[in-house]
Amino acid sequence: AIEIQGLHKSFGDLEVLRGVDFTVAQGEVVCVIGPSGSGKSTLLRCANLLEEPTSGRVVVAGADLTDPDLDIDRVRRRIGMVFQQFNLFPHLNVLENLTIAQRRVLGRDRAEAERTARANLERVGLADKEAGYPAQLSGGQQQRVAIARALSMGPELMLFDEPTSALDPELVGDVLGVMRSLADEGMTMLVVTHEMGFAREVADRVVFMDDGVVVEEGSPDEVLGNPRHERTRSFLARVV
Ligand code: ATP
Ligand code: MG
Repeated sequence: AIEIQGLHKSFGDLEVLRGVDFTVAQGEVVCVIGPSGSGKSTLLRCANLLEEPTSGRVVVAGADLTDPDLDIDRVRRRIGMVFQQFNLFPHLNVLENLTIAQRRVLGRDRAEAERTARANLERVGLADKEAGYPAQLSGGQQQRVAIARALSMGPELMLFDEPTSALDPELVGDVLGVMRSLADEGMTMLVVTHEMGFAREVADRVVFMDDGVVVEEGSPDEVLGNPRHERTRSFLARVV
Protein backbone atom coordinates (compact mmCIF):
# COMPACT_ATOMS: atom_id res chain seq x y z
CA ALA A 1 0.00 0.00 0.00
CA ILE A 2 0.99 3.64 -0.41
CA GLU A 3 0.43 6.51 1.99
CA ILE A 4 1.37 10.01 0.92
CA GLN A 5 0.97 13.02 3.20
CA GLY A 6 1.82 16.64 2.48
CA LEU A 7 4.17 15.74 -0.35
CA HIS A 8 6.07 18.68 -1.80
CA LYS A 9 8.63 18.49 -4.58
CA SER A 10 10.52 21.37 -6.13
CA PHE A 11 13.10 21.48 -8.88
CA GLY A 12 14.98 24.67 -8.10
CA ASP A 13 12.40 27.45 -8.05
CA LEU A 14 9.75 25.31 -9.71
CA GLU A 15 7.34 23.80 -7.22
CA VAL A 16 5.93 20.76 -9.02
CA LEU A 17 4.08 19.04 -6.15
CA ARG A 18 2.43 21.45 -3.75
CA GLY A 19 1.06 19.34 -0.93
CA VAL A 20 -0.26 16.03 -2.24
CA ASP A 21 -2.17 13.68 0.06
CA PHE A 22 -3.56 10.34 -0.88
CA THR A 23 -3.43 6.64 -0.21
CA VAL A 24 -3.62 3.44 -2.16
CA ALA A 25 -4.88 0.61 0.01
CA GLN A 26 -3.74 -2.96 -0.37
CA GLY A 27 -5.46 -4.52 -3.38
CA GLU A 28 -6.75 -1.19 -4.61
CA VAL A 29 -6.37 0.17 -8.16
CA VAL A 30 -6.01 3.95 -8.32
CA CYS A 31 -5.78 5.81 -11.63
CA VAL A 32 -4.20 9.27 -11.72
CA ILE A 33 -5.31 11.60 -14.49
CA GLY A 34 -4.48 15.21 -15.23
CA PRO A 35 -2.99 17.59 -17.77
CA SER A 36 0.58 17.46 -19.00
CA GLY A 37 2.96 19.00 -16.48
CA SER A 38 0.59 18.60 -13.53
CA GLY A 39 3.11 16.46 -11.64
CA LYS A 40 1.80 12.91 -12.21
CA SER A 41 5.14 11.37 -13.15
CA THR A 42 6.90 13.25 -10.39
CA LEU A 43 4.41 11.83 -7.90
CA LEU A 44 5.07 8.30 -9.14
CA ARG A 45 8.81 8.86 -9.05
CA CYS A 46 8.58 10.08 -5.45
CA ALA A 47 6.67 6.89 -4.61
CA ASN A 48 9.59 4.87 -5.92
CA LEU A 49 12.37 7.14 -4.61
CA LEU A 50 13.56 7.92 -8.10
CA GLU A 51 13.00 11.47 -6.87
CA GLU A 52 13.59 12.63 -3.35
CA PRO A 53 10.63 14.53 -1.89
CA THR A 54 11.37 18.08 -0.78
CA SER A 55 9.07 17.53 2.20
CA GLY A 56 6.22 15.33 3.31
CA ARG A 57 5.76 11.70 4.18
CA VAL A 58 5.76 8.80 1.74
CA VAL A 59 5.15 5.31 3.13
CA VAL A 60 5.32 2.54 0.54
CA ALA A 61 5.13 -1.19 1.16
CA GLY A 62 5.40 -0.58 4.89
CA ALA A 63 8.58 1.50 4.65
CA ASP A 64 8.83 5.22 5.38
CA LEU A 65 10.81 6.47 2.42
CA THR A 66 11.82 9.63 4.24
CA ASP A 67 13.56 7.65 6.98
CA PRO A 68 17.29 8.38 6.45
CA ASP A 69 18.25 4.91 7.71
CA LEU A 70 16.07 3.19 5.14
CA ASP A 71 17.63 0.59 2.86
CA ILE A 72 16.18 1.98 -0.37
CA ASP A 73 17.12 -1.00 -2.49
CA ARG A 74 15.20 -3.37 -0.24
CA VAL A 75 12.06 -1.28 -0.67
CA ARG A 76 12.52 -0.68 -4.38
CA ARG A 77 12.58 -4.35 -5.19
CA ARG A 78 9.10 -4.66 -3.68
CA ILE A 79 7.77 -2.03 -6.07
CA GLY A 80 7.25 -2.86 -9.73
CA MET A 81 7.49 0.04 -12.14
CA VAL A 82 6.41 0.20 -15.76
CA PHE A 83 7.16 3.26 -17.87
CA GLN A 84 5.98 4.62 -21.18
CA GLN A 85 9.28 3.47 -22.69
CA PHE A 86 9.78 -0.23 -22.18
CA ASN A 87 13.48 -0.04 -21.25
CA LEU A 88 14.20 -3.64 -22.20
CA PHE A 89 17.83 -4.67 -22.71
CA PRO A 90 18.14 -4.87 -26.51
CA HIS A 91 21.06 -7.32 -26.45
CA LEU A 92 19.27 -9.84 -24.21
CA ASN A 93 16.47 -12.13 -25.31
CA VAL A 94 13.10 -12.05 -23.59
CA LEU A 95 13.87 -14.79 -21.08
CA GLU A 96 17.19 -13.14 -20.18
CA ASN A 97 15.47 -9.78 -19.77
CA LEU A 98 13.21 -11.43 -17.17
CA THR A 99 15.92 -13.36 -15.32
CA ILE A 100 18.79 -10.89 -15.04
CA ALA A 101 17.46 -8.80 -12.15
CA GLN A 102 16.04 -11.85 -10.38
CA ARG A 103 19.52 -13.34 -10.39
CA ARG A 104 21.55 -10.19 -9.70
CA VAL A 105 19.25 -8.42 -7.26
CA LEU A 106 17.36 -11.27 -5.60
CA GLY A 107 20.13 -13.86 -5.89
CA ARG A 108 17.88 -16.50 -7.42
CA ASP A 109 19.59 -19.36 -9.24
CA ARG A 110 19.09 -19.78 -12.97
CA ALA A 111 16.49 -22.54 -12.71
CA GLU A 112 14.28 -20.67 -10.28
CA ALA A 113 14.63 -17.39 -12.19
CA GLU A 114 13.64 -19.11 -15.45
CA ARG A 115 10.70 -20.87 -13.83
CA THR A 116 9.41 -17.55 -12.48
CA ALA A 117 10.07 -15.82 -15.81
CA ARG A 118 8.14 -18.45 -17.79
CA ALA A 119 5.20 -18.30 -15.40
CA ASN A 120 5.03 -14.53 -15.87
CA LEU A 121 5.42 -14.69 -19.66
CA GLU A 122 2.44 -17.05 -19.59
CA ARG A 123 0.57 -14.50 -17.51
CA VAL A 124 1.03 -11.78 -20.14
CA GLY A 125 0.33 -14.14 -23.05
CA LEU A 126 3.88 -14.32 -24.43
CA ALA A 127 5.03 -17.81 -23.48
CA ASP A 128 6.06 -18.44 -27.09
CA LYS A 129 8.38 -15.39 -27.26
CA GLU A 130 11.01 -16.26 -24.68
CA ALA A 131 13.80 -16.71 -27.24
CA GLY A 132 12.97 -13.54 -29.17
CA TYR A 133 14.80 -10.24 -28.89
CA PRO A 134 13.05 -6.95 -28.09
CA ALA A 135 13.55 -5.60 -31.64
CA GLN A 136 11.59 -8.60 -32.99
CA LEU A 137 8.54 -7.75 -30.91
CA SER A 138 5.77 -5.20 -31.40
CA GLY A 139 5.59 -2.29 -28.98
CA GLY A 140 2.64 -3.92 -27.21
CA GLN A 141 4.53 -7.19 -26.84
CA GLN A 142 7.58 -5.31 -25.53
CA GLN A 143 5.45 -3.55 -22.95
CA ARG A 144 3.93 -6.87 -21.85
CA VAL A 145 7.48 -8.24 -21.49
CA ALA A 146 8.30 -5.19 -19.34
CA ILE A 147 5.27 -5.96 -17.17
CA ALA A 148 6.28 -9.63 -16.90
CA ARG A 149 9.79 -8.55 -15.95
CA ALA A 150 8.44 -6.35 -13.14
CA LEU A 151 6.15 -9.16 -11.96
CA SER A 152 9.05 -11.63 -11.90
CA MET A 153 10.51 -9.70 -8.97
CA GLY A 154 7.39 -10.54 -6.93
CA PRO A 155 6.36 -6.93 -6.21
CA GLU A 156 3.84 -5.97 -3.56
CA LEU A 157 2.57 -3.17 -5.72
CA MET A 158 2.90 -1.92 -9.27
CA LEU A 159 3.34 1.64 -10.50
CA PHE A 160 2.49 2.39 -14.13
CA ASP A 161 3.34 5.68 -15.85
CA GLU A 162 1.34 5.98 -19.08
CA PRO A 163 2.21 2.42 -20.10
CA THR A 164 0.26 2.62 -23.36
CA SER A 165 1.06 6.16 -24.52
CA ALA A 166 3.90 5.12 -26.81
CA LEU A 167 1.89 2.38 -28.52
CA ASP A 168 0.04 2.31 -31.80
CA PRO A 169 -3.70 2.35 -31.04
CA GLU A 170 -4.26 -1.25 -32.12
CA LEU A 171 -1.69 -2.48 -29.58
CA VAL A 172 -3.09 -0.65 -26.58
CA GLY A 173 -5.86 -3.15 -25.84
CA ASP A 174 -3.56 -6.13 -25.19
CA VAL A 175 -1.53 -4.19 -22.64
CA LEU A 176 -4.64 -2.85 -20.90
CA GLY A 177 -6.00 -6.41 -20.88
CA VAL A 178 -2.93 -7.63 -19.01
CA MET A 179 -3.27 -4.76 -16.53
CA ARG A 180 -6.94 -5.53 -16.06
CA SER A 181 -6.21 -9.18 -15.25
CA LEU A 182 -3.55 -8.08 -12.76
CA ALA A 183 -6.15 -5.87 -11.10
CA ASP A 184 -8.59 -8.79 -11.02
CA GLU A 185 -5.94 -10.89 -9.27
CA GLY A 186 -5.82 -8.29 -6.50
CA MET A 187 -2.58 -6.49 -7.32
CA THR A 188 -2.21 -3.07 -5.71
CA MET A 189 -1.79 -0.64 -8.59
CA LEU A 190 -1.17 3.07 -9.08
CA VAL A 191 -1.67 3.91 -12.75
CA VAL A 192 -1.07 7.23 -14.49
CA THR A 193 -3.09 7.01 -17.66
CA HIS A 194 -4.95 8.86 -20.39
CA GLU A 195 -7.10 5.79 -21.02
CA MET A 196 -10.40 6.96 -19.56
CA GLY A 197 -12.16 3.72 -20.51
CA PHE A 198 -9.64 1.75 -18.48
CA ALA A 199 -9.95 4.15 -15.54
CA ARG A 200 -13.73 3.94 -15.65
CA GLU A 201 -13.87 0.15 -15.78
CA VAL A 202 -10.89 -0.96 -13.71
CA ALA A 203 -10.07 1.74 -11.15
CA ASP A 204 -11.47 1.60 -7.64
CA ARG A 205 -10.63 5.28 -7.37
CA VAL A 206 -9.68 8.06 -9.77
CA VAL A 207 -7.47 10.98 -8.73
CA PHE A 208 -7.45 14.16 -10.81
CA MET A 209 -4.28 16.23 -10.45
CA ASP A 210 -3.72 19.72 -11.72
CA ASP A 211 -0.85 22.10 -11.07
CA GLY A 212 0.78 19.96 -8.38
CA VAL A 213 -2.24 19.22 -6.22
CA VAL A 214 -5.01 16.66 -6.06
CA VAL A 215 -8.05 18.62 -7.21
CA GLU A 216 -10.57 15.85 -6.89
CA GLU A 217 -10.74 12.14 -6.13
CA GLY A 218 -13.46 9.57 -5.86
CA SER A 219 -15.03 6.61 -7.63
CA PRO A 220 -14.76 6.58 -11.43
CA ASP A 221 -18.46 7.38 -11.62
CA GLU A 222 -17.99 10.45 -9.43
CA VAL A 223 -14.82 11.87 -10.95
CA LEU A 224 -15.35 10.91 -14.59
CA GLY A 225 -19.13 10.89 -14.67
CA ASN A 226 -20.07 13.72 -12.38
CA PRO A 227 -17.03 15.86 -11.55
CA ARG A 228 -17.46 18.47 -8.85
CA HIS A 229 -14.72 20.84 -9.94
CA GLU A 230 -14.61 23.06 -12.98
CA ARG A 231 -10.94 22.15 -13.60
CA THR A 232 -11.86 18.46 -13.75
CA ARG A 233 -14.75 19.17 -16.11
CA SER A 234 -12.67 21.20 -18.53
CA PHE A 235 -9.90 18.58 -18.51
CA LEU A 236 -12.36 15.79 -19.28
CA ALA A 237 -13.99 17.85 -22.00
CA ARG A 238 -10.60 18.12 -23.68
CA VAL A 239 -9.55 14.45 -23.44
CA VAL A 240 -12.75 12.49 -24.02
P1 ATP B 1 2.87 14.48 -18.65
O1 ATP B 1 1.40 14.20 -18.71
O2 ATP B 1 3.32 15.35 -19.78
O3 ATP B 1 3.71 13.23 -18.50
P2 ATP B 1 3.23 15.00 -15.80
O4 ATP B 1 1.95 15.32 -15.13
O5 ATP B 1 3.75 13.62 -15.67
O6 ATP B 1 3.11 15.40 -17.35
P3 ATP B 1 5.74 15.78 -14.61
O7 ATP B 1 6.59 14.99 -15.55
O8 ATP B 1 5.58 15.25 -13.24
O9 ATP B 1 4.30 16.04 -15.25
O10 ATP B 1 6.35 17.24 -14.60
C1 ATP B 1 5.79 18.28 -13.82
C2 ATP B 1 6.65 19.51 -13.98
O11 ATP B 1 7.93 19.27 -13.41
C3 ATP B 1 6.91 19.92 -15.41
O12 ATP B 1 6.85 21.31 -15.48
C4 ATP B 1 8.32 19.42 -15.67
O13 ATP B 1 8.96 20.21 -16.63
C5 ATP B 1 8.96 19.55 -14.31
N1 ATP B 1 10.04 18.57 -14.08
C6 ATP B 1 9.89 17.23 -14.03
N2 ATP B 1 11.05 16.62 -13.77
C7 ATP B 1 11.98 17.59 -13.67
C8 ATP B 1 13.40 17.63 -13.40
N3 ATP B 1 14.09 16.49 -13.19
N4 ATP B 1 14.00 18.83 -13.35
C9 ATP B 1 13.31 19.97 -13.57
N5 ATP B 1 11.98 20.01 -13.81
C10 ATP B 1 11.32 18.85 -13.86
MG1 MG C 1 4.28 12.13 -17.02
